[in-house]
Amino acid sequence: MEHNNTKIDFFLHKKRNLIKLIDKFNYIIEIYTSLLDKDDYSSESVYYIDKVNFYENEKKEIQTKIDDCNKNLHKFCNHQYIEDVIDLAPETSRYIKYCIICECTEDF
Ligand SMILES: [Zn+2]
Repeated sequence: MEHNNTKIDFFLHKKRNLIKLIDKFNYIIEIYTSLLDKDDYSSESVYYIDKVNFYENEKKEIQTKIDDCNKNLHKFCNHQYIEDVIDLAPETSRYIKYCIICECTEDF
């Protein structure tokens, strides 16, 4: 078990940091998008569009690494699921079921 716990810690730590990257990329994409003038086809706009595309691709790349982490967590973790309610917006909430050890959702 000790051995598995080390692996779970490793992949969980990695997953958390990769999720941080996705959050940062989303933030960067939001800023570049806000700088875009849709009626403008100047080289400046092309530059911003290129940046948005670059970070969108980075997100896809990082997501595959998160999926790998989840696969490994499923392999090593004896999941203990709990149900929780998350608030998406003031009037929208959703039930989720996630593992308290590795943070994987049931369907991941
Ligand atoms: Zn788990």
